Amino acid sequence: MVTEKILKQDIQKTTERETFQWTKQFDVWETHTKHCLVCQDALKNINRLKILTYVVAGLCLCLGIVIDARAIAIQAATAAITETGTFVSGLAVPPLGFWFALGGATLFAFGGYKLQQLSRLFYVYEFEHADNRVVGNLY
Ligand SMILES: [Zn+2]
Repeated sequence: MVTEKILKQDIQKTTERETFQWTKQFDVWETHTKHCLVCQDALKNINRLKILTYVVAGLCLCLGIVIDARAIAIQAATAAITETGTFVSGLAVPPLGFWFALGGATLFAFGGYKLQQLSRLFYVYEFEHADNRVVGNLY
C-alpha cells in the first residue's frame, strides 16, 4: 500500500520531469541559441541575407516595371513617329526582360521566405505532434 503510493508519486515525478525536459528541449532559444555565439552569428547573417534577398526581390520588381514601361514608351514613341504603328501592340505582351525580372523577383522573395523559415529554427524546434506518438502522453 505504502510502496504503491510511493511508486505512483515516483512515476508522477518522473513524468513531470520528462514533460519539463521535452518542453524545454524545443525552446531552442532558451536552451542553446542565447548562449551560443556561433549560432547567434549565424542567425545574424541569415537575417541580413533575408533582408538582402527581399530588397533584391523588390529591386527586380522595380526593374521589371521599368523595363515594361520603357518598352511601352518606346513603342508609343515609334508609333508616334511613324504614325503607322497601332498602340495596342505596346499593351500586348511585356518584353522578355520583364519576365526575367519578374522571375528573379519571385525567386528572391521565395529565397527570403525560406531564410525566414530557417531563422525560426534558432528560436523553436517545431515538429508534428502526430509523428511523435511513440513518446506518449506528453502533449
Ligand atoms: Zn550553437
